[in-house]
Amino acid sequence: MANYFKDNDDLNFYVNHWIDWAPLVQLTERDFRAKDSHASVDEAVTFYRESLEMMGEFVAAEVAPIAAKVDRVGLHLEKGEVISPPELDALFAKIKELGLHGLAVPREFGGMNAPLINYFLSAEMFARADASIMTHFSFHCGIAMAMLVYSLREGTSKIDPKTGEIVETRFADAIREITAGDAWGCMDITEANAGSDMAALRTKGEQDENGNWFVTGEKIFISSGHGKYHLVIARTEEAKPGEDSFAGLKGLSMFVVPAYEDTPNGRVRYVFVDRLEEKLGHHASATCALRFERAPAHLIGNRGEGFNYMLLLMNNARIGVGFESLGGCEAAYRLAVDYAAQRRSMGKTIDRHEMIADYLDEMRTDIQGIRALAVQGAYHEEMSQKLQIAVEHGELGELEKKRLERDLRRHRRLSRRVTPLLKYLAGEKVVELSKRSIQIHGGVGYTAEYGAEKLLRDGMVMPIYEGTSQIQSLMAMKDSLSGILKDPQGFVRRIAQARWKSVSARDTLERRVAKIQALSLAAQQHLVSRTATDKLKGLREKPLGEWSSSLRKDWDPKHDFAFAMLHAERLTKILCDEVIAELLLEQAQKFPERREILERHLERAELRVKFLHEEITTTGERLLAKLASMSSDEGRNAAQ
Ligand SMILES: Cc1cc2nc3c(=O)[nH]c(=O)nc-3n(C[C@H](O)[C@H](O)[C@H](O)COP(=O)(O)OP(=O)(O)OC[C@H]3O[C@@H](n4cnc5c(N)ncnc54)[C@H](O)[C@@H]3O)c2cc1C
Repeated sequence: MANYFKDNDDLNFYVNHWIDWAPLVQLTERDFRAKDSHASVDEAVTFYRESLEMMGEFVAAEVAPIAAKVDRVGLHLEKGEVISPPELDALFAKIKELGLHGLAVPREFGGMNAPLINYFLSAEMFARADASIMTHFSFHCGIAMAMLVYSLREGTSKIDPKTGEIVETRFADAIREITAGDAWGCMDITEANAGSDMAALRTKGEQDENGNWFVTGEKIFISSGHGKYHLVIARTEEAKPGEDSFAGLKGLSMFVVPAYEDTPNGRVRYVFVDRLEEKLGHHASATCALRFERAPAHLIGNRGEGFNYMLLLMNNARIGVGFESLGGCEAAYRLAVDYAAQRRSMGKTIDRHEMIADYLDEMRTDIQGIRALAVQGAYHEEMSQKLQIAVEHGELGELEKKRLERDLRRHRRLSRRVTPLLKYLAGEKVVELSKRSIQIHGGVGYTAEYGAEKLLRDGMVMPIYEGTSQIQSLMAMKDSLSGILKDPQGFVRRIAQARWKSVSARDTLERRVAKIQALSLAAQQHLVSRTATDKLKGLREKPLGEWSSSLRKDWDPKHDFAFAMLHAERLTKILCDEVIAELLLEQAQKFPERREILERHLERAELRVKFLHEEITTTGERLLAKLASMSSDEGRNAAQ
């Protein structure tokens, strides 16, 4: 029987050998003090592995076979309600019966209490079977967990310090309802004139004289928007005249908005589904245009904190899209491998033709690199979220608290570094690999017969939603350059270390990884020097390590990176290759059988990084000059 977990050696490596389960189990099981806890780390990990095996079998047996039909039939709107094909309804009835919506939800709410990373690994397998069905699945557990995290963060949950159990939570009923499979939710951010530019959001949150909140406005492109619990970002404060466009973010607040109430007289709606988008793919996922008519709403935290609450949710959502894209990549690769092994051309199967063999080798290497990033991001994000809860709610001695806070900072730094890279790379690669898969299939790849074209249609949304590839690139670039400005001496030290290692490390693979690091740092140095000297001409002559603290203090990352913005995507590609090389090196040093994967990655990454470094250091001036002249023309026209 097909099993998407058992047939995947790379995925098994992480579960069986790589993930550092002990600290994660300790936090997830709350030091084994809670009722019904697993008795030990081993027992917990055995359960996690079994749940992955069960999921691997379930998605292969129940999801993959209905994917093509559901894609063809799709969803439609009837009298304001979304109607799905019977196969999809039957699938979700089975998911409900098996309790899979509660995979990562704490036991207190009827869940299985597995770590979120288990949920993400399941999401990869689910998306390998069908990305859009997985998307709808994710708006169950994902929203329940977001509501729980929001309540913990705003201080409306109580944790028993003796057992670590959650004894009170603001949204307990909704979390239980979702866990039981009786409801789901969605994340409502985008509006017609505000996608990447969230400062332009216009949906309003207003309070009446009794302090009750109401949301009014329109949102578009909301996945699973026919759900009951909407996490809505809305404007509660208007920007003051003269404030810059970024000030708009400070006026946003986060709300939980129940879309409807079921009464004895029928369903009363406050949020209306006006339209289902017709899309290229992703046909099992409802993409809704919504209208909020003074919908009763619950404010999360304080007014004006909406953007921060959204970021909290976004991190997990971006990691989720990383795993979803990885599932798509895996499906595209496996389809291509199987087809190339049986299709003959010019006397041999096409996988023996050099060019096709090269494509397949590159696809496999890309997937293994993305999985290294994905596991790293998911692990450190979950550790930092759980440590934050332990620090805020645990009964800790002074020393223990300090130790946990140190750990928390480390995990947060590691997760922050990887998350935009994962979202960027996985989203771009699922499109590239699906296209390759179609090409490897030749003519039948362009037909619906083998399913390769569906993977491309489904994959095309992944570089777009949860923050486009361009937005991820800007985040990755700003993070790395801001880091340099905070600690220029540290940066100079890192350059020296990388250069030294690139010639002196004993292991050739370590030397090669250090060369990539040195090139990456050189590219960052070029970007930061060029950008800074644009701002302060006097800096040109000074070495980076001697830049004054006043420059660093006055630096505004929102405005002062114009030159670097031009090259942000190139830098992001370098950072992806660099971080993957570092992660695979760490694995190779502990597990010699992983050296071969690192060698394959380096063989391609070294040339890519050299080329990208060259592009960053030698191009861009012509285009920047053109943009500058366009801006000054616009300024002159506006003045006339
Ligand atoms: C199938 C689907 C499902 C979705 N699900 C949801 C959902 O559940 N909830 C939700 O809130 N939204 C959802 N979205 C919306 C999605 O998140 C947005 O479409 C996305 O954020 C991009 O916004 P936009 O469409 O307004 O594009 P724009 O923001 O107009 O961007 C257009 C192009 O310009 C680029 N661009 C914009 N600003 C910059 C910049 N400063 N520098 C460089 N390039 C820039 C973008 O990267 C993009 O290439 C969904 C979209 C789709 C297609």
